Amino acid sequence: MHEAMLYEKLSDSRVQCHTCQWYCRIGQGKFGVCRMYHNRGGILYNMNYAKTSSVAADPIEKKPLFHFFPSTLALSLGSWGCNFHCQHCQNWEISCPPPGEPWLDSRDISPQTAIELAKSSHCQGIAWTYNEPTIWFEYTLDSAKLAKKNNLYTVYVTNGYLSPQALDTIGPYLDAWRVDIKGFSDSFYRELTKIPRWRGILEVTKRAKDKWQMHVEVVTNIIPTMNDDDQQLEGIASWIRDNLGELTPWHVTRFYPQHNMMNLPPTPLATLEHACDIGRKAGLEFVYAGNVPGHKDENTTCYHCGKLLVQRFGYQAEVTGLEDSRCRFCGAEINFRVGVAERRSS
Ligand code: SF4
Repeated sequence: MHEAMLYEKLSDSRVQCHTCQWYCRIGQGKFGVCRMYHNRGGILYNMNYAKTSSVAADPIEKKPLFHFFPSTLALSLGSWGCNFHCQHCQNWEISCPPPGEPWLDSRDISPQTAIELAKSSHCQGIAWTYNEPTIWFEYTLDSAKLAKKNNLYTVYVTNGYLSPQALDTIGPYLDAWRVDIKGFSDSFYRELTKIPRWRGILEVTKRAKDKWQMHVEVVTNIIPTMNDDDQQLEGIASWIRDNLGELTPWHVTRFYPQHNMMNLPPTPLATLEHACDIGRKAGLEFVYAGNVPGHKDENTTCYHCGKLLVQRFGYQAEVTGLEDSRCRFCGAEINFRVGVAERRSS
């Protein structure tokens, strides 16, 4: 249990959490929407500081991050809970645990231990992933600060709904923002995630790039009948182009039936390829098909000279045509992060 960093005290021992865009007002003895922040006696506590549900040395391609330190390993840490309640969650056992303390049998990993583990596992960085990193914000912040001191890269795999205040707090210590833009309509986000204001995800994502110069990659899991219409896909692709730039990678990934969406079929390959076409027509230079190992749209080719630059199969990547962030054949800028850039401090 760790006192929350971003909250204000209200009257009658109530508090308001400022960690994510729910901005929960929480009465004495109650929890926020994510069930990981708890008001005890007018003080807000994060309940799962350092409480891990999952720990692994993953290829960075698994996040997926394709243009960020390719072929490296990231120490990947997940905790418990989520501020979304997605009907198709792939990790629902850890994101929707039963009420109580699901971490009782799990391992505490302090920020210092995480750094040591990353180094001993030959990882070049740390990723907070598997569940929403915002839900153990204080822990990820402490760990990110330590990671930067130890020359490790840092990654949020996020639904993008943390507050601008939280983003600005962790911004100086975060290198990559792997964000889901799950759809592009009020009705879709309301039905799938239950959040009230999905456009806040777009605002914070743009801020991560513009203000904090994070490397940004976007994922959209294409769910049959939910977000596979041209209007939403064109909306996402155009938004990425206009706000993050045409060199931003967009991963369109295959849905498999999970959790409360066992009634829908896996995404047909033709739908996935159509989504890739929509991205390219919108002007995005790097559109990738995900969860289809061996598909040609896993590879990176140069948009200028057409040469193969990175060949992938699932989580394996072989870099054949890059020189730093440029195509080694024609010199075109490819938007690869292979060194941690100088960061702004405000
Ligand atoms: S992190 Fe978000 S969902 Fe959880 S208590 Fe804070 S505002 Fe509510």
